[in-house]
Amino acid sequence: MTKMILIKYGELSTKGDNRHIFISVLKENIEKVVQTEIDILKKHDRIYIKTENIADTIADLKKVFGIHKMALCYQVANEEEAIKKTVLKLISEASGKTFKIVTKRANKNFPTNSQMMNHLIGGHVLKNSILQVDIKKPDIKITIEIRDEFTYVYHEEIKGLGGFPVGVGGRGLLLLSGGIDSPVAGYLTMKRGIALDCLYFESPPHTSERAKNKVIRLAQVLKKYDCDLNLYVVNFTAIQEKIYQTLPLNYNITIMRRFMVAIAEEFALTKAAKILITGESIGQVASQTLESLAVIDEKTKMPIIRPLVCYDKSEIITLAKNIGTYDISIEPYQDCCTVFIAKHPVIRPSLKTVYEYEAKLPFTELKKAALEQIKKENIKKEKHELL
Ligand code: ATP
Ligand code: MG
Repeated sequence: MTKMILIKYGELSTKGDNRHIFISVLKENIEKVVQTEIDILKKHDRIYIKTENIADTIADLKKVFGIHKMALCYQVANEEEAIKKTVLKLISEASGKTFKIVTKRANKNFPTNSQMMNHLIGGHVLKNSILQVDIKKPDIKITIEIRDEFTYVYHEEIKGLGGFPVGVGGRGLLLLSGGIDSPVAGYLTMKRGIALDCLYFESPPHTSERAKNKVIRLAQVLKKYDCDLNLYVVNFTAIQEKIYQTLPLNYNITIMRRFMVAIAEEFALTKAAKILITGESIGQVASQTLESLAVIDEKTKMPIIRPLVCYDKSEIITLAKNIGTYDISIEPYQDCCTVFIAKHPVIRPSLKTVYEYEAKLPFTELKKAALEQIKKENIKKEKHELL
């Protein structure tokens, strides 16, 4: 009998034709994320992982989207006696007074059907332990999966992150600031299978190295879920200063956001990203009214996905704490958008006014110059902490 980790795909099962692609990507992602040495076997319904270091491996697997559930299981031969022995071993390792056996016979060549197995193995446990049967609320639920080559026996299941494997849905560009919202927006997008690149707009000397360092650490946290994630930094100083010098202060944020999405769109295309992602949420600040969002959207052909659009701040904070970005986000260093901001920015910007103001700026030249000097930031993958 061999101990291993069994992985269940969950939502993947509904994906029909794409299923084999999803499973292959999930396998690749597991190989990238798990930092211990593993032996991985991919099957139609399950992935099985053998490892010497089960605790670390499970901690790493908790960072992989597309895993619905995991279980520590024993792999045994498709033989009644071997299964009986394994079930007794599992029972002896578990604690509780009641049990239930659930057999799933995927291998129809196995002579005993699921119902019969439940009775047979249940009877064996009753005879060889002091446990009682409880069908409705057992302390120990033993699952026996009889498959073509082997049978897998387990009891406790560990919750995975759910969602889809990162990458199956394509690529997006996250506008990552040092705030609370955008890292959470990135996390939720990755959860739906989108691989990410991140773009940060900095305005030195108005924003500090420490503000940038904060964003780097946020990207580092996100990289735990997508090993191929990169962070790029745009120097936004010239644009912010030009807007500040040329236009009325109350339209600053509107025009700045339009610059941001215009630059992001063009950069995204060079990275084969198909969407932009932001942490905007309706009503959170003046720049996030429906009118403002519409004026921002108008500047780009690329869809802007806003996963937090209907979330309350308190819900976002709860998520940020769970993901591990909150403590970094609340560090005080100034972000570029807070530097040149009006006390009372326009709440319902008009597109007509926006056009008039933008005509006063060398928009294309400024955008081009910003795009030309975008730099890739080095972000290390950290050793995963045990959850
Ligand atoms: P967050 O929304 O991440 O908490 P914030 O509240 O400081 O940060 P907002 O002013 O709400 O930022 O900006 C809305 C969105 O615009 C952010 O969620 C982010 O996606 C994007 N954004 C703002 N500032 C920047 C920046 N300096 N670099 C990249 N993206 C930014
Ligand atoms: Mg915000």
